[in-house]
Amino acid sequence: MHITVPRFEKIPYVWHGFGTRELSQENLRVQAGKKDLDLVLLDQIHSDCIHVLAEPPETQLRGDAMLTTSSGLLLTIKTADCLPVLVLDERQKLIAAVHCGWRGTSKRLLAKVVRKMSDVFDSEAADLLVVLGPSIGPDCYEVGEDVRECFGEAGLEKGLFRSHPQTPGKYFFDLKLANRNQLLECGVQVENVFSVTGCTHCEKNLYSYRREHLEAGRLLNFIGLL
Ligand SMILES: [Zn+2]
Repeated sequence: MHITVPRFEKIPYVWHGFGTRELSQENLRVQAGKKDLDLVLLDQIHSDCIHVLAEPPETQLRGDAMLTTSSGLLLTIKTADCLPVLVLDERQKLIAAVHCGWRGTSKRLLAKVVRKMSDVFDSEAADLLVVLGPSIGPDCYEVGEDVRECFGEAGLEKGLFRSHPQTPGKYFFDLKLANRNQLLECGVQVENVFSVTGCTHCEKNLYSYRREHLEAGRLLNFIGLL
């Protein structure tokens, strides 16, 4: 019902996972409750807005990333093709959950999260463990000129776009690579970046907005300190 990564699995004070379509919000809430974790969800808006949480928020927060050192919060990101990213600093006992679509990626959201971790909590990028969850793969993620231009303006486009063999003005975009590059540029160590393989668009046990359109549910991706 959810996918885990061995390197994170073996840390006794962390609970994490990337839900498949069988994992409903209600189901996750029940499982979290048994571990004394409160589900925290954002109103995700494809922004670079990052929230640092000490306790469960009293109002619905808008944004695309959350950080905490508090136990009891299950930071949860919803996706259907976008890339969910979970981050852990074992030294500072600090976690983050990040929603990386192409817009957030072009705004360098993940790099900003790494910087925030360092500014607020004295985290070192070299200490961070990061998991890139399941997202739409580079052979399935077709985008237009507007997306490429957006990355070109930000000086980020190199190697991320492959021209569509049949359709001029269309490209295949490597969302995961774009975010991996940002991590490495920030000083995250390559051996500390883990990736869940699989494409949301190809795998029927994952939700895909591109495949299912408005029918698509949302995958729940989570990390919490116990
Ligand atoms: Zn695919």
